[in-house]
Amino acid sequence: MSDFINVPEIFGADVFNDATMQQCLEAKTYQAWKQCVSTGSSLPLEIANDIAEAMKIWAIEKGATHYTHWFQPMTGITAEKHDSFIAPTGDGKVIMEFSGKELVRGESDASSFPSGGLRATFEARGYTAWDPTSYTFVKDGSLYIPTCFFSYTGDALDKKTPLLRSLDDVSREALRILRLFGDDQAQRVHVSVGAEQEYFLIPKALYAQREDLRLTGRTLFGALPPKGQELDDHYFGTIRTRVSNFMKDLDEQLWRLGVLSKTKHNEGAPCQHELAPIYSNASNACDANQLVMEIMKKCAAKHDLVCLLHEKPFAGVNGSGKHNNWSLCTDSGRNLFSPGKTPRQNAQFLVFLAAFIQGVDEYQDFLRCTVASAGNDHRLGANEAPPAIVSIFLGDELNAVVESIIHSSSYTDPEKGLMRIGVDVLPPIPKDTTDRNRTSPIAFTGNKFEFRMLGSSQSIAGPNIALNTIMADALSRFADALEKAEDFDAALHKLVCEAFTAHQRIIFNGDGYSDDWKEEAACRGLSNLRSTPEALPSYISQKNIDLVTKRGIFTETEFRARYEIHLETYRKVINIEARTMVDMALHQILPAALAYSSDLAEAVERKRKAGIRANTEADLAQRLSDCCDSLYEKCEQLHKALKAVPSGSQEAADYHNRITCPQMQALRKDADLLEKLTAKSYWPYPTYSDILFY
Ligand code: ADP
Ligand code: MG
Repeated sequence: MSDFINVPEIFGADVFNDATMQQCLEAKTYQAWKQCVSTGSSLPLEIANDIAEAMKIWAIEKGATHYTHWFQPMTGITAEKHDSFIAPTGDGKVIMEFSGKELVRGESDASSFPSGGLRATFEARGYTAWDPTSYTFVKDGSLYIPTCFFSYTGDALDKKTPLLRSLDDVSREALRILRLFGDDQAQRVHVSVGAEQEYFLIPKALYAQREDLRLTGRTLFGALPPKGQELDDHYFGTIRTRVSNFMKDLDEQLWRLGVLSKTKHNEGAPCQHELAPIYSNASNACDANQLVMEIMKKCAAKHDLVCLLHEKPFAGVNGSGKHNNWSLCTDSGRNLFSPGKTPRQNAQFLVFLAAFIQGVDEYQDFLRCTVASAGNDHRLGANEAPPAIVSIFLGDELNAVVESIIHSSSYTDPEKGLMRIGVDVLPPIPKDTTDRNRTSPIAFTGNKFEFRMLGSSQSIAGPNIALNTIMADALSRFADALEKAEDFDAALHKLVCEAFTAHQRIIFNGDGYSDDWKEEAACRGLSNLRSTPEALPSYISQKNIDLVTKRGIFTETEFRARYEIHLETYRKVINIEARTMVDMALHQILPAALAYSSDLAEAVERKRKAGIRANTEADLAQRLSDCCDSLYEKCEQLHKALKAVPSGSQEAADYHNRITCPQMQALRKDADLLEKLTAKSYWPYPTYSDILFY
């Protein structure tokens, strides 16, 4: 009984949420806040002051001494700067103060955050503003205020601002369609998101001994262990005690912060696990996923574990990704991707489906680029995660519907049972969970789309901004056409049919891992952007710039800044990894292998003196020595290569992709061979077997 947790009681206990506000605020203040949130207007100062005062009292009771504006800079993680509530009273004492101004607006030095050239050097300040649609919360002795982060000139320096813009945009366009179908109730269409998070947990003591893990979050060396994940004995297996204690602790902390942590299980690779929350609105889901990642790391440390969020911590076993489940839902709770029961509802469903298919096909490169990173380059297309080619899996039933609609327009096969939009009922579409196609980058799973290309460490903001924006754009064009149609039903049929026909190439229900698909996708004209440096130039294609600026999601400057940051980050990551490799090779691997080979050589000498043959020792010593020569040479080459990196960011990224990465692989090959040849007692750090099968 001592382990009892009263979940309903602790859930959201550290969040200044709607229920708490109702309790702590005067009725008129609460109403004013509600009003601001629903209309998107800004808080009047006196209301902000009242809220701040109540919030302060509540937070202090929860143990807070500080407050912080919490924001999501373009690094992809979160940032915070803490100020205490203290204010001097003039007699050597202090009181605790917190004003409405401090709640809604903050100022911080932006110069240490990547700005992609957005921040002029003379204006290094950045500003933060509370997003009142996100609740504040108390964590580690501070009141956290979720904010947007922008420059003096008003450019968004963060991931939250464009996300909020895209949420407004898609809501507005979706409502136009709903009105056409006679819905005059809905006031807002929400984007629902549930992000399934994969991660590795390894013992802290072993992690501490590996420089590569400490500096880069992944193993840069490591021979494959005799056993990998081939027995599939980890997936959904029993969770070991240390890990299950961690998970329990994690859940409790997340629940206190109002994160709807729901599902936990072991994943495919040894030491790999997954956490899935119940879906919520996209902005909230994005904040929640940031908290999940942060608290996973902190909580692991408490249990003498380390949580690795890198996309590919270990070669030879699966890496980690994140599945972004995405759907649209009215404020009255109606899911717009749920196939309905009546012909009318189905027609509306088909419009949203067609818009999604059209949007993804037209902007496949945009979507692809939002998940481009050095870490994710190890996964996409490596037959453990979807290929780098964007496609949509619909499942047999829905695919048949699409086929039928396409063919009814050309009347090629009138026998086949045609689907008449607005007249016929859809066949049942199963919410299949068993034999779903796992190889598809985007899958329709009954009432939502699952976007599966995200890397485990990435912010989910980028792909959601893209999904919302391309959806809004397609819906807006549909609404334009339908609003002025004289014959609504005829226009509707034409529109859906044309969209399916024109964009059918993006639908693929087969095996995304197969080589045949790569060929076929090329024939269909789908792009296959294999690596980050190859992908990113298309991020800032004119088509994408037109889209995001027309829809008001990014200014061109803001958008280009993001491209620069993606590239810069890629360049820096490869640089750090390559330098770490050289460092470990020269200072750990080489000395270990050399020590072993010279001990062997001495043994050969001693044995020969005693008249004993020492073939094994001699042979091993020779092989080690040869391999050490090769490793040493590769270190020299890599070292030289790093001195010749071009200065332009795109050129540098291309160079790394072409020169540095293959050299790193070559170096690793020698090192891994040395690991296999060297006696365990000489090896300077824990091996894959030590770490993955502890
Ligand atoms: P699986 O691993 O089979 O994909 P999970 O249960 O692990 O399934 O995760 C499914 C995720 O999808 C959960 O986060 C869930 O809350 C989310 N989800 C379910 N319905 C919707 C929806 N309508 N919109 C967005 N996300 C959803
Ligand atoms: Mg899952």
